Amino acid sequence: MVHHQRGAEVLELAADVLVIGGGPAASWAALAAAEAGARVVVVDKGYLGTSGATAPTNTGTWFVPPGAEREAAVARRQLLNGELAVPRWVDRTLDMAWQRLHTLADWGYKFPNDDSGKPYLTNLRGPDYMAFMRRRLVRAGVAILDHHPALELLVDSSVIAGAAGIDRQRNRPWRVRAGAVVLATGGCAFGERMLGATGLTGDGYLMAVEAGAALSGMEFSAQYACAPIQSSINKGMPFVWASFFREDGSRLDTSKDRYVVVARALLEGPVWAQLDRGIPELRLWLRQAQPNCFLPYDRNGVDPFTQRFPVTLRCEGTVRGVGGIKLTGDDCSTGVPGLYAAGDAASRERLTGAISGGGGPNSSWAIASGNWAGRAAANFAAREVGSIRDRRVTGLGRAGLRPAASAHSDSSADDILQTVREEFLPLQRNFFRRDATLRQSLERLDRTWTELRDHLPGIGVGAVKSREAAALTATSRWAYASALARAESRGMQRRLDLPATDPQFVCSFNVSDLDRIDVTRSEIPGASVT
Ligand SMILES: Cc1cc2nc3c(=O)[nH]c(=O)nc-3n(C[C@H](O)[C@H](O)[C@H](O)COP(=O)(O)OP(=O)(O)OC[C@H]3O[C@@H](n4cnc5c(N)ncnc54)[C@H](O)[C@@H]3O)c2cc1C
Repeated sequence: MVHHQRGAEVLELAADVLVIGGGPAASWAALAAAEAGARVVVVDKGYLGTSGATAPTNTGTWFVPPGAEREAAVARRQLLNGELAVPRWVDRTLDMAWQRLHTLADWGYKFPNDDSGKPYLTNLRGPDYMAFMRRRLVRAGVAILDHHPALELLVDSSVIAGAAGIDRQRNRPWRVRAGAVVLATGGCAFGERMLGATGLTGDGYLMAVEAGAALSGMEFSAQYACAPIQSSINKGMPFVWASFFREDGSRLDTSKDRYVVVARALLEGPVWAQLDRGIPELRLWLRQAQPNCFLPYDRNGVDPFTQRFPVTLRCEGTVRGVGGIKLTGDDCSTGVPGLYAAGDAASRERLTGAISGGGGPNSSWAIASGNWAGRAAANFAAREVGSIRDRRVTGLGRAGLRPAASAHSDSSADDILQTVREEFLPLQRNFFRRDATLRQSLERLDRTWTELRDHLPGIGVGAVKSREAAALTATSRWAYASALARAESRGMQRRLDLPATDPQFVCSFNVSDLDRIDVTRSEIPGASVT
């Protein structure tokens, strides 16, 4: 199957398909590729089963039967999505998720039963879902390399031919030559410290753009979620039943645009919440459905249903946002031969338009796009002629890996992370955007980029942090460059200086390139103009 060269300085492997990532999108891509007959290797930055945004939480999944109910769901989505989604993509995502959730049940995954005793397929409990997927991968003969972050893609005469990285536990480089690669590296949380997202630093975006791909929908990266102030658990469901208060005890009117009201109040002072709007039965249900959400309260001796507690908004960036690698075909191709993208790494604009994909669509997207990308990657690899092991490969990684000028230690990865956090996380910069602050942030991030590109070294396991710093900086710049181009407010893009939605912007903004960012506009064939 996979070829090991033991005792060598570099771990050398060969496979038909290499999947980079270890969340649901990567797992489905690997299974789909294996089902199509490919030899598959998966590399994860963490441990496949516990890393990524799904593994530690419950994910509601968008699960709608074909027929009238499906048509109604697609139509409802059109009204919600800020006009940019494409009904055909909504329908095909729902269709693939519908099929594969049934496959999951057939494989023996234990969905809970609903009140009528039938399996309830719209809820996946992260820890056991991902543990189950891992067992399926092993059974399908997929080789899983945990704690093997990918640092760069490999190319053979402009066709993607694998990736290279580091085994962080042995401090040993690895290189996988492959007939095709699927990027399933998740979204970017821009350095926000929240459960499951610390490793989500935009690495896949950087690798894709270095290979010549574009990103789209990056302006829709201002997704924030409510969380108790001292907790990294930002699951939003309990807050559906929350009342919010200023420090003086006055109640906030959150009947419309709940989080916009909370964000405004947070700019003026502390905000408190209490989960007091549900019936008593709901309390028990919430505790059972979202057990880890209640740990921070229990540990601090707070009963969130009867007592107020301070809250904040945490930036979820593109994890529950929208933007990512632009897909150029139904098969999740990226325009770069041999390179495919799935899950949060890929742009979800066609599915969710300008609003967050959380609360179901993201989970279905990971299933659907993973299946499309895995199958297409296997087919691409099967068409490639010649021995994969003999490919002459070159690494594409630059910033944070191979400095353009002299490596020196003035630029530390931690300092760069701090800069990105300062420019991207504050509500007054990102949640509420203005031309002047966007430009100011972009200038600072551009300077940081130039400095790190020229001088930040990436040596041994230290390369993981320096590549993350490069990816975070690049991703923040792509997001703000797109936010400047979209001179309007729409969905998650809230421009204080341009509060109206402008019909001339029913379009996508695509970003590419690293030093001089290129932003182009493209029409969206089949978009749901209302
Ligand atoms: C609190 C919270 C609640 C959510 N609830 C819901 C919900 O109810 N419904 C819903 O639809 N969605 C929900 N989401 C979103 C959902 O979790 C994500 O959309 C989903 O996890 C995406 O799957 P993925 O496989 O693309 O990415 P992830 O699950 O994030 O996995 C990405 C993987 O890539 C790996 N990786 C990253 N960089 C590298 C690299 N350089 N080399 C190797 N591996 C790498 C990471 O280690 C990780 O394992 C929620 C998200 C959060 C944060």
